[in-house]
Amino acid sequence: MTVERVGVVGAGTMGAGIAQIAALGGYETFLYEIDEKQLERGLEMIRNGMRRGAERGRWSEPEAAEALERLRTDTLIELLRDGELVIEAAPEDLDVKRDVFGRLASICGPGAVLATNTSSLSVTAIASAVPEPQRIVGMHFFNPPALMQLVEIVAGDESSEPALELATEVARGMGRTPIRARDSVGFVANRCVRPFFLESLRMLAEGIAPHDEIDRIVRLGAGLRMGPFELMDLIGIDVNFAVAKSFWEQSFGEPRWRPTPIHERMVASGRLGRKTGRGFYRYEKDTPHRPRDPDVNAVRPIFDGDELEAVAGPNAALVLTRLGATSANEACFALGERVATADDINIAMRLGYNWPIGPLEWGERLGWSRALGVLEELRERLGEAYRPAPLIRDLAGGEPLPGSETAAW
Ligand code: NAD
Repeated sequence: MTVERVGVVGAGTMGAGIAQIAALGGYETFLYEIDEKQLERGLEMIRNGMRRGAERGRWSEPEAAEALERLRTDTLIELLRDGELVIEAAPEDLDVKRDVFGRLASICGPGAVLATNTSSLSVTAIASAVPEPQRIVGMHFFNPPALMQLVEIVAGDESSEPALELATEVARGMGRTPIRARDSVGFVANRCVRPFFLESLRMLAEGIAPHDEIDRIVRLGAGLRMGPFELMDLIGIDVNFAVAKSFWEQSFGEPRWRPTPIHERMVASGRLGRKTGRGFYRYEKDTPHRPRDPDVNAVRPIFDGDELEAVAGPNAALVLTRLGATSANEACFALGERVATADDINIAMRLGYNWPIGPLEWGERLGWSRALGVLEELRERLGEAYRPAPLIRDLAGGEPLPGSETAAW
């Protein structure tokens, strides 16, 4: 099973990046885009990306030139006819995707595997548009695809094992690290990162600490490159709020995923983050929005005890304990629901969000009975958003973390 030809649908932010790493991975790459001007823009993004990567020594100039030779583009979908794997990166709209997959199913050969890069739609629902849903899988890349290592290989209810294996092989061929995920709300990384945003917003609303202090604690105490509020400003508060609402709606009101009013107020007042010059922070040209942090001990990113307080201030222990316990709890729900294996959950957060440790490792570090105690105390005071996962009770009782045999596939 050696794939040589990869097709990509859509030359936007994700499609262009995916085509770039497919070509760099040695695949003959076909990039189809409906809009001629956008195809030109996408190609320009790829050329720039290739040039920048060569300048930074990530590949050589001849390698970049050869990769560009392997890339063909068109505004006609027939370009994708010979693709053995086609990755769709069209807009996040179920009707658009169903239409694209219906057309791909009739154009591509019967053995071709068809993948969607959706981040929030159901792979199973998209697959229902084609006569052979077993050849449809999810391949969830992260933005920007050329820099982010993670690819979530998502198994729809009917995806076949050979189709999933082929997608996994190509993700590796593109130099990425694939993990397996079940078709479920947010898959793995975007789900396990929810508490990072929501718990931070709740702590802000409760007055535990201001947003810039929470960010600073997260950077200095947990060793993350960006705190939750900086990251929301970068992603766009509107985009992040839309994801929050989508989780809430798709789960029919899961209390853990309830959006916060702060979020909505910011969107309503046009404070959308960097793109509008104001979000949680103000962005003025040439002025960094935060002072430089003192050096942190990168070898041991999560400080405990006295050292934590000395470096990140008196609120650090409380903020990091709440973030750690809620993140570990979400990961335990995901593991218990067999969304992914424990190892893959940790890898997803390390590679998808650059966390120095995964959420289950964070739970281990806190101690499972301490994590459970924190959740129970918060539940008592603040409600069902803190309901502990059944698995966290088992772990607190001394049972070992379930191994990879718990995965459903
Ligand atoms: P985008 O809007 O930048 O790109 C989509 C492209 O598809 C556009 O160039 C558009 O002209 C083209 N297009 C529209 N209809 C088409 C059709 N019928 N056939 C071919 N091309 C068509 O969007 P994006 O941010 O690249 O997102 C694409 C997909 O990737 C979405 O499903 C999104 O949820 C997912 N995704 C996005 C991110 C992200 O951070 N942007 C991350 C992971 C996954």
